Amino acid sequence: MLKLDSLKVNYGYISALRNVSIEVQAGEIVTLIGGNGAGKTTTLMAISNLVNKASGTVTFKGTDISRLAPNKIVRMGISHVPEGRKIFPALSVYENLISGTMGNPSLGKEKIESLLELSFTLFPRLKERLKQDGGSLSGGEQQMLAIARGLMMDPELIMLDEPSLGLAPILVEEIFEMIVEIRRTGKTILLIEQNAAMALSIADRGYVLETGNVVLQGRGAELLEDSAVKKAYLGY
Ligand code: ATP
Repeated sequence: MLKLDSLKVNYGYISALRNVSIEVQAGEIVTLIGGNGAGKTTTLMAISNLVNKASGTVTFKGTDISRLAPNKIVRMGISHVPEGRKIFPALSVYENLISGTMGNPSLGKEKIESLLELSFTLFPRLKERLKQDGGSLSGGEQQMLAIARGLMMDPELIMLDEPSLGLAPILVEEIFEMIVEIRRTGKTILLIEQNAAMALSIADRGYVLETGNVVLQGRGAELLEDSAVKKAYLGY
C-alpha cells in the first residue's frame, strides 16, 4: 500500500533522514521505533509532504505521491495524527471531530454520521463529552480525540505519531487496545512510538530507526526478542 524508497531529508546542515526505505501492506500495523532524534517524526512528515525531500520517493497504492500537495495526500486516503495531539482547544469535541471530515470533501451526510458512530464505539468517552471544549479534556481524552478526528476523514491508512506520549500507563494500554480495534475496522496503521515494547507487541512488523537510517526490520514478535532491540529500546 505504502512504499518509501531511499528517503533523504535535511534540515539545513542536519541530516534527519539519510536512507529510509519502508513498506506497509494493506491491513498491517507497522511500527517505527527509535530513540530521540532518530527521524521517526520526519518520516511521517515526509510521507505527508510537510518537509522537503532531498531525494527518494513515496508511493501510495502505486501512485508516486512524493511531490503531491499535503491536502491531496489526505484526499488519497492518508490521515496523519501528529505528535502532541494538536486538537483545537477552543472548539467542542463535536466540532473537532467534524473538522476531521474537511480533509475529505467526498463524504456525504450519512457517511459522516456513520463515522461519528464509529468514533463513539471506539471512544465512548468522547460521546459523553461532545459539547465540552477540546482544551478541557484530560491528556488521554485529547489523544483519543486526535485519533478519532484522524479517522473522521475515512482514511485507508492512518499514521499515528507517539500516541502514548505523556500518558499514564493505564491510558497507554487503552490507547494501544484502541489501535488494535481500529485495525479491525479495516484500516492500515503506521505507528511511531518511543514505547517500543507496547508498539512491537501489537505490530505485525517493525522498523528500527537510528540517526536517519533503518538499522533493523522484522516481524514485531521477532524484534521483541532481538538482543540489540532489547538492550537499546526495551531496557533489559
Ligand atoms: P523524537 O522522538 O524526539 O521526536 P524523532 O525520531 O521523531 O525524535 P525527528 O523529530 O524526526 O526525530 O528528528 C530527526 C532529526 O532532525 C533530529 O536530529 C532533530 O534534531 C532534527 N530536526 C527535527 N526537526 C527539525 C527542524 N525543524 N529543524 C532542524 N532540525 C530538526
